[in-house]
Amino acid sequence: MKSLKEYIHEAKEKGIAVGHFNVSNLEGVYAIADAAQALNVPVIVGVSEGERDFTGVLEIAAVVKTLREERNQPIFLNADHTYSIERVKEAIDAGFDAAIFDGAQLGIEENIAKARGCVEYAKEVKQKTNRDVIIEGELGYIGTSSKVFTEIPEGAAITDEMLTKVEDAVRFVKETGVDMLAPAVGNIHGMFAKGKDPALNIGTVKAISEATGVPLVLHGASGNSDADVQAAIKAGVAVVHVNTELRVAYREGLEGALDAKPDEVAPYKYEKVAKEAMQKVVEEKLRIFNFL
Ligand SMILES: [Zn+2]
Repeated sequence: MKSLKEYIHEAKEKGIAVGHFNVSNLEGVYAIADAAQALNVPVIVGVSEGERDFTGVLEIAAVVKTLREERNQPIFLNADHTYSIERVKEAIDAGFDAAIFDGAQLGIEENIAKARGCVEYAKEVKQKTNRDVIIEGELGYIGTSSKVFTEIPEGAAITDEMLTKVEDAVRFVKETGVDMLAPAVGNIHGMFAKGKDPALNIGTVKAISEATGVPLVLHGASGNSDADVQAAIKAGVAVVHVNTELRVAYREGLEGALDAKPDEVAPYKYEKVAKEAMQKVVEEKLRIFNFL
């Protein structure tokens, strides 16, 4: 099997993207694994700091690794938004395939210094164990919470002058050595309750992609139109993150199952419905990201 790095570079060359979906529980992992297996595409399971505190760091790593080996399926694990070098190291040591150092709310100097520290640690691990761990950096603040809201999070970059600047992106990639970059291109974490999220700035995606040469990551794709996301992929995005839409599907699936059978007490029966609701969303998204 190819490494995650190889799958991502292959996606970039083909003008498609690898889907990244967050989980909080085992149902989520199976929803993602089954959807990706049905479509025969690689996929990334993501856990934020809060999500992995809930699943267990070593435990979620063991689950994803077991699935990969048992099914011979290209399913990988990412430490999503991680705010300290210590927690990036913890994820790398636990066997994660990728980690995001998120210094988007720091000044650029501190962000560069800390992201570089994470890259250096990944390099040490590569030398010792020959295991490739991808480090992603974040430049430009897009909000932090994956929920449904009515107003744009304070300080999030959605006006043109707040988007990630090409020269900053070039400097950040050069000085940190990150494998991938998540810029602010009009995307925001979470999604709007009414209608679609604001449009992405595809010109900025293209300019940053061409100037930096690294695969770009689009966060907060919940709520963006399919056409917008596909245009961003064609412009240089090689990984797309979805979280909120899965959370909504899980919640609605679960509520529907409990409403339909109010006396049911076997979790594997009603949670199966929630899992299938998530799986449907993952399949739809994977079709969009892989142009299937
Ligand atoms: Zn994100």
